[in-house]
Amino acid sequence: MESTDFLIVGAGIIGFAVARELRQRHPKASIVVLEKESDDEY
Ligand SMILES: Cc1cc2nc3c(=O)[nH]c(=O)nc-3n(C[C@H](O)[C@H](O)[C@H](O)COP(=O)(O)OP(=O)(O)OC[C@H]3O[C@@H](n4cnc5c(N)ncnc54)[C@H](O)[C@@H]3O)c2cc1C
Repeated sequence: MESTDFLIVGAGIIGFAVARELRQRHPKASIVVLEKESDDEY
């Protein structure tokens, strides 16, 4: 089973902002964003 430090469900503005903040706070952490739609708005 694969693992990640942070899993974010939904790549809307909130998911994107959380991912960006996590990246700044935890530069070495693995972050996965799951999005059900195929379009990548951000
Ligand atoms: C018609 C309309 C017009 C709007 N116009 C404006 C505007 O002009 N200005 C403004 O400031 N705000 C506007 N808003 C509001 C704005 O869109 C929302 O406040 C903002 O997008 C909320 O961001 P969010 O990240 O919480 O949710 P969302 O943007 O809805 O993002 C959630 C994401 O999660 C994904 N998701 C959901 N369930 C799952 C799942 N089970 N698995 C994986 N992915 C999933 C969705 O596909 C989506 O991409 C508008 C909203 C609507 C509906």
